[in-house]
Amino acid sequence: MTIEIKNITEPEVTCANCQACCCRLEVMIITDTGVPKEHIAYDEWGGETMKRLDDGWCSAVDRETLVCTIYENRPWICREFEMGSFECVDQRKEVMG
Ligand code: SF4
Ligand code: SF4
Repeated sequence: MTIEIKNITEPEVTCANCQACCCRLEVMIITDTGVPKEHIAYDEWGGETMKRLDDGWCSAVDRETLVCTIYENRPWICREFEMGSFECVDQRKEVMG
């Protein structure tokens, strides 16, 4: 009898096969990186956050290409968010299933 061994690998996690899932998370603005005012909202404690639209996406996401339209000025948290990290994989599951 032969037992077939399947090599089950997780699909590759890259931003290229993602739907900007992390851009649906709440993003606090904790340092001034020059985020344009129209993309800033205030939380209940008066803290600055990235504005999110009704469907949850950050208002700075380009809806056609799903890239960040303010990349050079994106908040520190966006810069630190690591592709392939636990949070990234978790958020992909949450949004894309
Ligand atoms: S960092 Fe992760 S969740 Fe964010 S766009 Fe890239 S793959 Fe998607
Ligand atoms: S500022 Fe850019 S990278 Fe950060 S959540 Fe918004 S669209 Fe995504």
